[in-house]
Amino acid sequence: MHQLTLAEIARGLADKKFSSEELTKTLLARIAQLDPQLNSFITLTEDLALEQAKAADARRANGETGALLGAPIGHKDLFCTLGVRTSCGSKMLDNFKAPYDATVVAKLAGAGAVTLGKTNMDEFAMGSANESSYYGAVKNPWNLEHVPGGSSGGSAAAVAARLLPAATGTDTGGSIRQPAALTNLTGLKPTYGRVSRWGMIAYASSLDQGGPLARTAEDCAILLQGMAGFDPQDSTSIDEPVPDFSANLNGSLQGLRIGVPQEFFSEGLDSRIAELVHNSIKELEKLGAVIKPISLPNMQHAIPAYYVIAPAEASSNLSRFDGVRFGHRCENPKDLTDLYQRSRAEGFGPEVQRRILVGAYALSAGYYDAYYLQAQKIRRLIKNDFMAAFNEVDIILGPTTPNPAWKIGAKNSDPVSAYLEDVYTITANLAGLPGLSMPAGFVDGLPVGVQLLAPYFQEGRLLNVAHQYQLNTDWHTRSPAGF
Ligand code: GLN
Repeated sequence: MHQLTLAEIARGLADKKFSSEELTKTLLARIAQLDPQLNSFITLTEDLALEQAKAADARRANGETGALLGAPIGHKDLFCTLGVRTSCGSKMLDNFKAPYDATVVAKLAGAGAVTLGKTNMDEFAMGSANESSYYGAVKNPWNLEHVPGGSSGGSAAAVAARLLPAATGTDTGGSIRQPAALTNLTGLKPTYGRVSRWGMIAYASSLDQGGPLARTAEDCAILLQGMAGFDPQDSTSIDEPVPDFSANLNGSLQGLRIGVPQEFFSEGLDSRIAELVHNSIKELEKLGAVIKPISLPNMQHAIPAYYVIAPAEASSNLSRFDGVRFGHRCENPKDLTDLYQRSRAEGFGPEVQRRILVGAYALSAGYYDAYYLQAQKIRRLIKNDFMAAFNEVDIILGPTTPNPAWKIGAKNSDPVSAYLEDVYTITANLAGLPGLSMPAGFVDGLPVGVQLLAPYFQEGRLLNVAHQYQLNTDWHTRSPAGF
């Protein structure tokens, strides 16, 4: 049963081949047996899961239908879940039980999804390897010595290992697409504003966006349908109609104009990945797509701009963790300053502290103009590059990451070498555009992803292209040995 996709689960439940309760019990047993190898969960919610599964079965017995009704999922542990620990991968929030559900959590529960647990992640979503979690590194099911990518590494590892059919993630600079690429999944970062951020613990508010991680584009369509939509509680949520993603997967790719940016194939890209990306291009050409070389001339500035803007916003967002209202509080503070300083020094790990320092520096008087303001200008130039490109093409295609998954610990002494792994994903966040990563082959037994980018609110186009590709390739069906 653990091999079933969300779409297959929906059919199985509708045809009464099994109940949600049976499926939930099977997966919980599988998690208990296999997750000790992976460390993909921070908290399991067995009781809640069984209660939700029974309720979903009862709703089906009453004639209700729906692709998510009774479907087991996991939530990245930065979506607030009422009464359940929501740690954000940090000691700071190890003792935090959220007093309400995030909009995404409430919407999915309303659609009948069953929450099996909260998945491991880089501390406060800062990272590309899931090594900065207070709860320990997550292992890649394709090779347990390698990272699964991050920051949504727990969600990715759990889905790749068939412990869950799908899970939520968030993507600030690539944290859905990059772990999807490194674990052979399909992952989608929606347009900024498409999915509510209410109750999603903030890292960099102008970049953060929640989205689905699953094995197929078809399943991403199902999960995104349950997550997307206007939310008056989120001031950056956009009131834009949500199309029926599943109904629009079968459009023809005849004449689809695919832009391939030359900058995506520059130095730093593993030549074996470049070859797999070119193979995916040939596959899409067979389906009728037309390839056009394009240029995104400001791409080389994306990493420096992102690593100013994201830490700047993080330093502001994380100022709320002060030991007073929630989260970790130091023992016996001498005075208020001591309370702040020790609570934060003890509660935050080294990567989070590094980013708070960088962000506070970039925002300080005297440096604001030199760093933050410049970074915001670059952000606009990158957006303009995309707007110009989308006048010529319907989607943009390139690699998701420059390298396959690296060994755990390999980049620990050099944070910048990890930051460089984000080179192809962060531009979409800076511009607010939707992006998808899909499986496209293997290098040394490790998965490789191809990234597709589309104009604002064209998630449906991305899912359509990925689905057509998946109907004609079988990379996405491969599963890691031992899982
Ligand atoms: N790797 C990037 C960072 O560390 C992106 C993380 C994310 O998307 N949450 O900031």
